[in-house]
Amino acid sequence: MSEGTVELVKQAGAVGAGGAGFPTHVKISAAVDTVIVNGAECEPLLRVDQQLMATEAEKVIKGLEAVMEATGAATGIIALKSKYKAACDTLEQLTTGKNIRLFKLGDFFPAGDEQVLVYEVTGRVVPEGGIPLKAGCVVSNVETMLNVANALDGIPVTDTYVTITGEVSQPLTLKLPVGTPVLEALALAGVRDTGNIAVIDGGPMMGQVLEDLSVPVTKVSKGFIVLPAEHPLVKNKTLSMQDIIRRSKSVCIQCRMCSDMCPRALLGHSLSPHLIMRGLNYLQAGSDTMKSALLCCECGVCELFACPMLLSPKQVNAAFKKELSGQGLKPEPPVGEKPVSQFRDYRKVPSKRLIARLGLSRYDVPAPLTDTTYSPRAVYLPLRQHIGAPAIPTVEPGQRVVKGELIAGIPEGALGANIHASISGTVRQVSDFIEIRADRERGGA
Ligand code: SF4
Ligand code: SF4
Repeated sequence: MSEGTVELVKQAGAVGAGGAGFPTHVKISAAVDTVIVNGAECEPLLRVDQQLMATEAEKVIKGLEAVMEATGAATGIIALKSKYKAACDTLEQLTTGKNIRLFKLGDFFPAGDEQVLVYEVTGRVVPEGGIPLKAGCVVSNVETMLNVANALDGIPVTDTYVTITGEVSQPLTLKLPVGTPVLEALALAGVRDTGNIAVIDGGPMMGQVLEDLSVPVTKVSKGFIVLPAEHPLVKNKTLSMQDIIRRSKSVCIQCRMCSDMCPRALLGHSLSPHLIMRGLNYLQAGSDTMKSALLCCECGVCELFACPMLLSPKQVNAAFKKELSGQGLKPEPPVGEKPVSQFRDYRKVPSKRLIARLGLSRYDVPAPLTDTTYSPRAVYLPLRQHIGAPAIPTVEPGQRVVKGELIAGIPEGALGANIHASISGTVRQVSDFIEIRADRERGGA
C-alpha cells in the first residue's frame, strides 16, 4: 500500500464526490483486488461524470492508477454506459496497453448503485448490510478520481462540478468553487425568478428538494434540477412523513411490485418493502421485518417506478433507518446466502421509461460542460461536507486566506476531511461554516 498517496489524498480533503462524502483517504487505505470507477451516472438529467470522462480522461486514469497502487489492486475497471460514446472512445484509446479495462453498462437505473455495479462488473454479490470492500472492491466516483489525481500534484479540493438543468433557459455543467450559494449557481443557467420553482439537490430519484436556495454548493453536489413548484415529483418529495404513513397504512394493496422491482432484493438481499409497508399497521420498529429497512439504499425504484398506488416505501424505509440508526442498530450479517433473482435482468428499469414516468422527458436534454469560471463574492464552506466528524477551523474572522489554503482540519483520531479555502479573500465568519469574502467586491462569469 502506498502511504504517500493516502496521505496526499488526506491532505487534499478528497471525499466521495458522488454520494454521501465518505473520506477518500480512508476508503483507499483498504486492500482489495479490484478498483471500479463508477461512471454510470444513472440519475436522470445529470451530466457531470459522462463529460468528465471524455474531457479529463487522463486525470481519471491517473487517479485510478494511484488508487490501484494504494490498495494493491491488480485490476482497474472504468464502468460507464455504452451510450457515453465520446468517453468510451477516449478512454479506450488511453487505456490500451494498461491493466485497466472498460466495462460498458446498459442504460438502466440504478446502474450506479455501488452494489448493483459490483455485481454487474465482477459477478460478485456484496453481502447484505456490507460495502464493496466485502467483495474485494473499492468503488469510486469519476470526480473523486480527478480529485485524487490533483492531490498527487498537491492540489486540494476547492471546486466541484455540477449540472444545472430542468426549467432553465440554458442547461449547463460547470465547475464552481465549493461554498458558492446555490442561488448564484442557478443564475448562471438563466434562472432569475425563483418565485414558482422548486430545486432538487442531486438527481430526481435520490435528491431532495431544497428548502433554502441560499445554501452552498458542497464537495458532494452533483447537480441542481429546477422544476415548476407544482411538478408531481416535487409534490412527491415534499409530502410530510405523517401523510406518507397515513396513506401507506390505508392504500397499500400488497401487490408486492415494490419488492419485485427492488434492486437490492433482486441481488438476493433480505429486503421486502411490501412487508415493511404491511408491518406499519402492527409491527414494532425493532422487529426483524422492520429492521430490514436498514438494507434499503433509498434508490427510489419502489416509490417512483414500481408502486401503482403512488406510495413511498423508500421514505418509510428512510424513516425507519433513521430511527433504528439512532438506536445504534446496524444491519445484521445475513443468515445463509440467497441467490440473485433469475428475473433480475428483466427487471432493470430502462432510463428512458423512468424519465417518462417521472414526467421529465422535456428536460432530458444536453447540459454541455462549459469552461465558464465563476468568481463568487463570498463562499460559505460547511465544516461537515462529508461522513464523519465536522472539521475543526484553523482560521479566525479577519484572517486573509488564499485559495487552496487549509481552513479546517480533521479532528485528532476522527474520521473526517480537511477543508480548504475555495477563493482568496478574508474570513468573515466562523461557526458551523466558514464564510470567506472575496478580495474584490464584484462577482461574475
Ligand atoms: S428504495 Fe425501494 S427499491 Fe430502492 S432499495 Fe429501498 S426498498 Fe428497494
Ligand atoms: S407496490 Fe405499492 S401498493 Fe404494492 S405492495 Fe408496494 S407499497 Fe403496496
